[in-house]
Amino acid sequence: MKSFTIAIHGGAGTISPESMTADKERLYLQGLEQALHAGHQILSEGGSAMDAVSAAVVQLEDCPLFNAGRGSVFTHEGLHEMDAAIMDGNSGNAGAVAGVQGVRNPVLLARLVMDKTEHVMLHGKGAEELARLHHLPFETPEYFFDAYRYEQLQSIRHTENTQLDHSKDKKFGTVGAVALDQQGNLAAATSTGGMTNKRFSRIGDSPIIGAGTYAANHTCAVSCTGHGEYFIRSVVAYDVSCLMEYKGLTLEEACQKVVMEKLLKTGGEGGLIAVDKSGIPQLVFNSEGMYRGYRVNSEKPVVAIYK
Ligand code: ASP
Repeated sequence: MKSFTIAIHGGAGTISPESMTADKERLYLQGLEQALHAGHQILSEGGSAMDAVSAAVVQLEDCPLFNAGRGSVFTHEGLHEMDAAIMDGNSGNAGAVAGVQGVRNPVLLARLVMDKTEHVMLHGKGAEELARLHHLPFETPEYFFDAYRYEQLQSIRHTENTQLDHSKDKKFGTVGAVALDQQGNLAAATSTGGMTNKRFSRIGDSPIIGAGTYAANHTCAVSCTGHGEYFIRSVVAYDVSCLMEYKGLTLEEACQKVVMEKLLKTGGEGGLIAVDKSGIPQLVFNSEGMYRGYRVNSEKPVVAIYK
């Protein structure tokens, strides 16, 4: 059997054991395990990396603990505006949506953009129209309501500040997955509610191909999490790929250089997950922690939160 790999993240930031209860920690790890399982099952049966990253991200979007889909943070106006992207390393095709409301699984809408339109990125009402056209499920505001997240908003609503998910324990929320399938194809997907109290239709790095999400079979697949503005300016995901393509760096070297040197220099906090043809995943972050997990072939799944 050819080798295959799935890696996922559920956000990075100042996540310390002190900021966590045993119960909460168990739930987070469980959420990660379920997502890993969803992706792994597809890969082990010979399914595509695209299907695996979609399935893993859907699981994370449906879990209220993570800032994407159901668990998305509140905007200044008390809404949920979600961003997502997916990229196929084999064909180089990509789809993305920004600022969509009510869509249960934005990653599936990003995939529709790729599969059913000639475009790469749709936003707001137009993207929602495409979702309706293809009968993607929508949910009511109650589905997306979370008391903890609402409190996060109330605490900074009167300010001009935006806040990454759980700024008190400073967790960056976003979810993502990268995969290598048995056919040797790579794929990446990312989905997020963005930042608490965001205004003016702010869009982060997650749906921007090359910034928060990127995949190319000849280099790697990458999904990022962290302070989006820094990741956009540094074109993080594509930078990892370029260092491999043009400078001959290994995936590990490229990830270390981008996250631990280049991003840090600009003040960009966060991390990324990545995989290349070797199937050995990289899960790199310059913050205190990152919700993350991976599974290579049928080896034991690994999930972790802290450094
Ligand atoms: N990168 C996301 C954004 O800026 C947030 C995050 O990863 O926590 O929208």
